[in-house]
Amino acid sequence: MSSKLQTPIDYLKGVGPNRADLLRSELGIQTYQDLINLFPNRYLDRTKYYKINELQRNSAEVQIIGNITGFKEITQKRGKRLVGTFQDETGRIELVWFRGQKWIRDSIKPNTPYVIFGKVNWFNGVFSMPHPEFELLSVHEQNLSSTMQAVYPSTEKLSNKGVTNKVMNKIMQSLFLETNGRFAETLPDFIHSELKLLPKSDALFNVHFPKDQELLSRAEFRLKFEELFYLQLQLILKNLIHKSKIKGVPFNSVGPYFNSFYNDHLPFKLTNAQKRVLKEIRHDLGSNAQMNRLLQGDVGSGKTIVAFMSMLMALDNGFQACLMAPTAILSVQHFQGLSELANKLDISIKLLTGSSNTSQRRDIHKSLENGDLQILIGTHALLEDKVKFKNLGLAIIDEQHRFGVAQRSKLWKKGPSSTLSNDSETQIIPPHVLVMTATPIPRTLAMSVYGDLDISIIDELPPGRQAIKTVHRYDSNRLKVMRFMRDEIEKGRQIYIVYPLIQESEHMDYKDLMDGYESIVREFPQPKYQISIVHGKMKPVDKEFEMQRFVKGETQIMVATTVIEVGVNVPNASVMIIESAERFGLSQLHQLRGRVGRGAEQSFCILMTSFKLSQDSKVRLETMTKTSDGFEIAEVDLRLRGPGDIMGTQQSGVLNLKIADVIKDKDILYSARFYAKQVLTNDPSLINIENKTILNTYRELSKYKNIWNYIS
Ligand code: ADP
Ligand code: MG
Repeated sequence: MSSKLQTPIDYLKGVGPNRADLLRSELGIQTYQDLINLFPNRYLDRTKYYKINELQRNSAEVQIIGNITGFKEITQKRGKRLVGTFQDETGRIELVWFRGQKWIRDSIKPNTPYVIFGKVNWFNGVFSMPHPEFELLSVHEQNLSSTMQAVYPSTEKLSNKGVTNKVMNKIMQSLFLETNGRFAETLPDFIHSELKLLPKSDALFNVHFPKDQELLSRAEFRLKFEELFYLQLQLILKNLIHKSKIKGVPFNSVGPYFNSFYNDHLPFKLTNAQKRVLKEIRHDLGSNAQMNRLLQGDVGSGKTIVAFMSMLMALDNGFQACLMAPTAILSVQHFQGLSELANKLDISIKLLTGSSNTSQRRDIHKSLENGDLQILIGTHALLEDKVKFKNLGLAIIDEQHRFGVAQRSKLWKKGPSSTLSNDSETQIIPPHVLVMTATPIPRTLAMSVYGDLDISIIDELPPGRQAIKTVHRYDSNRLKVMRFMRDEIEKGRQIYIVYPLIQESEHMDYKDLMDGYESIVREFPQPKYQISIVHGKMKPVDKEFEMQRFVKGETQIMVATTVIEVGVNVPNASVMIIESAERFGLSQLHQLRGRVGRGAEQSFCILMTSFKLSQDSKVRLETMTKTSDGFEIAEVDLRLRGPGDIMGTQQSGVLNLKIADVIKDKDILYSARFYAKQVLTNDPSLINIENKTILNTYRELSKYKNIWNYIS
């Protein structure tokens, strides 16, 4: 199959050098293969005709039969516009032309039945259709075809240069003619018969030229399944190879540190979810392979203690451990919390951040290298070349979404070296890696993006937590909100007020923050009230100082930007007020809300907004007031934003799917993963004859990386 399909697009009939260049630059289509994998965005069902009184206020494209009864010309500042009145027996709409007005007037026959086609807009109480396609009903009836028409992805440049959807359809036709519509099979017989899949050639034909709705659905299913199957196959293979090739440092035993902590110093009873996750981690650490595990747990679910107890396993086996957090504030908190626990066990623990001074650094570097220091907590500063461990056995990354792949791999290189292999070359053994995140990722997405990591989930909050009451208030209710704040402070509670800080308009946001701070200071005057402020423009030491005042309860109100978003733990803070809440994304709102509800008191989250809200903001605010389930929130977020946005650019390649959608096609994904797992469990090297098709297809896909760029 490969040779013909690798033909450059220039050679296809109806393409030619100019169009070939356009297809390459605009859609990335280089070869026949790329073209065949250009799947339609949608289909026009030209079999349905709408009546004018059936039109909806959406932007669907519709087909209507009726007469044009008259024209008027409207002159505006920016030019003339031609408006035609179009009516059927149920009502009338306006047809609008901004260009080609003379030609339209000359060619349209008034009061004669036409079929028009286009997108309907609703404006000022009337429906209108700009630049409709039109055809005399009498002509239309002669060449009526009952099939659905594919609509391909396009760009402004393509349509300006005449590569319209009609042209794309023609090009696709000539591709099918030239290849006889025959394409090599890519899935094995047993999957075909178990799932009653369409053969590959039929599926491709029907996705481009659907004969009817049912065949279209089956074609889409077949192609989505294939895409997800090979994605999962690749991820599972990567994981298997990782496990068999990359040896980890062996943690043979659970020893006195872990046991003594577990028996005598646990500050609370672990939840069942925490116990389960610890077992999963213990299992990885005890095996010969390097652990590469993602720990997901909603804010406040108690990931820190799991991290600490995992570090104890490393220490018990004579290794060092480190914990890296994305901000100085968070590192300091981790350090303080964990020091308390570590001191009980006589464990040496230190903190390294950007603001550690030279002598502190020198001390840390030395004690790390000679092995006196057992646990190091810190920020990115941990990644500096000067930071060398004697024998790092476990590296933990908190809030991993803040770190890139490059940073993760830098940590890998900090593992102990060994000369175990026969040649005298020393080899670096990567430490076991545990990445923790409080940004819940829907399972299907995690399976696709982190399919090569093992995943643990803490899906249970510690007992006794009260649900956080979340409300949405408009700016006009501010006085009431202030009164509420005063009452809560009276009860001894502390309050966060968070302002958005979005980079592009940083200056303006900063002003909002300062204005807000000043008005709070006016409302809550000293000395009765004390107020902290923390924002990104402050020096790290000042930030830490202000943060500490709040942690110690010296200030009652913390005015901040999102620097406090991640991980900060102040149990006595029970009110979170989020200003301009409409400007935050869902996961950010959820993270911020997670800063409260950490103590025994009833906590509140107040989302302040103006009256003007977009549809998406409304959905976000409603979701927040309705649920506190991080996974549910993540699903909504994903629907609003799409997977690429959520995962950031670094993994977007993985999600660059041509036809499947990891959220909408959840069931197909599960099924594809099931089959991929089954195949690899029975035949990890794909040498059995019934898996030959899979092996060939997989090789083919790996060869032409540009075709499916997640095959790496
Ligand atoms: P996160 O998962 O957001 O990092 P933390 O580890 O900071 O959560 O834990 C949140 C709070 O819950 C901390 O104050 C911690 O001491 C407490 N905590 C954790 N596990 C338990 C538990 N099993 N029982 C009671 N409190 C717990
Ligand atoms: Mg945390």
